[in-house]
Amino acid sequence: MKVRIDHARCKSHGRCYSFAPDVFEPGETGRGEVKVPEFSEDDGETYRAAETGVMMCPAGAVSVDDD
Ligand code: SF4
Repeated sequence: MKVRIDHARCKSHGRCYSFAPDVFEPGETGRGEVKVPEFSEDDGETYRAAETGVMMCPAGAVSVDDD
């Protein structure tokens, strides 16, 4: 599974790394950065944290998919 942030959409709200700090972290300007860009499908804990980032991002900049 891959986690991505579309930096063109990111507005530096900080909600991804506030609510899911195991997968996301703040960049130099407060933008979200992905700490764990890839994880196994079996890793439910990371999957839940990544999905939290998707749900909490008000800009729709976070995605999790399997390609
Ligand atoms: S929550 Fe969304 S807009 Fe805010 S820092 Fe994270 S990716 Fe960027």
